[in-house]
Amino acid sequence: MANTDSSQQNFIGVDLSGPVLRATLVSSNGEVVERHESPLDGQQVVAQVAEMVNALHDHSATVSTVGVAIPGLVNRLTDRVLASNELPAAVREGLHEALMKATGLRFELENDANAAAYGEYQVGAGRGSRDMFYMSIGKGIGGAIILDGKLWTGASGLAGEVGHITIDAEGIECVCGNTGCLETVASGPNIVRRALERLDRDSTSSLSKLALNRDRDFTADDVAHEANNGDDFSAMMIERTGKYIGTGVATVINLLNIERIVLGGGVMDAGDLILTPIIREAERRAFQPCFEATKIAAGTLGKDAGAIGAALLARDAQ
Ligand SMILES: [Zn+2]
Repeated sequence: MANTDSSQQNFIGVDLSGPVLRATLVSSNGEVVERHESPLDGQQVVAQVAEMVNALHDHSATVSTVGVAIPGLVNRLTDRVLASNELPAAVREGLHEALMKATGLRFELENDANAAAYGEYQVGAGRGSRDMFYMSIGKGIGGAIILDGKLWTGASGLAGEVGHITIDAEGIECVCGNTGCLETVASGPNIVRRALERLDRDSTSSLSKLALNRDRDFTADDVAHEANNGDDFSAMMIERTGKYIGTGVATVINLLNIERIVLGGGVMDAGDLILTPIIREAERRAFQPCFEATKIAAGTLGKDAGAIGAALLARDAQ
């Protein structure tokens, strides 16, 4: 229940999901008042978060609750991080208590895809819809389902794991143990893998030069960037990725007959080059009356989605 002076209250949202730690001070209606960011050091998470949160708290004394988007599985009832590939076990265990002790504030932990979904639903591309599916396409592929304003998390907190639906029954092995998951072809690292496999057949691509001229491999961001600069090979890789994602989107449409699907994450930085084939492929594959009832849109909050959503989840947990 919101208290009576909630219009004056601010909230803090923190996103631990990327290589960059993001913390935002958000007003009760979801506007970003101030943001801080710095490279995330997995071993120093508590100290880093406490420093940023304390700085934002100094800026706004009305803050009492902080939401944190966690790259992993969170039990919201016990505030425990059950699994995370990104956070070291020593940090993960007791994270909630350690953060409260270091700041004197209340903390709400949530899975990162759920937090980003909630941000887009409240103040981004999902605004105005009653039910929404969110898909985040970046280093991995995550998803979240919001029904009637609430996250629907399923029997054990894992609902919406769209990255692990099977796209290619004969595909390569996935981190989850299955083969041919959507993530094995459409996540950032797998876009790079597919591009590298084909690149020696197309030495004219600007990606070939990038691959030769650098100490490190190129990234999915580079593929998107070169595609937007007119490189045909990169554009083809992004378009094919869009087709895979669109195949997953068609499955979601048929399963849920949901009014809004919002797509976020770094891979969507490719803009219309990826959104257009996603929508086209979803239309080709989905049951037509279901497709017609669905609006597919790119997220509008960008890299702030997780932090804003975490702050608004903290607001609504009060
Ligand atoms: Zn998988």
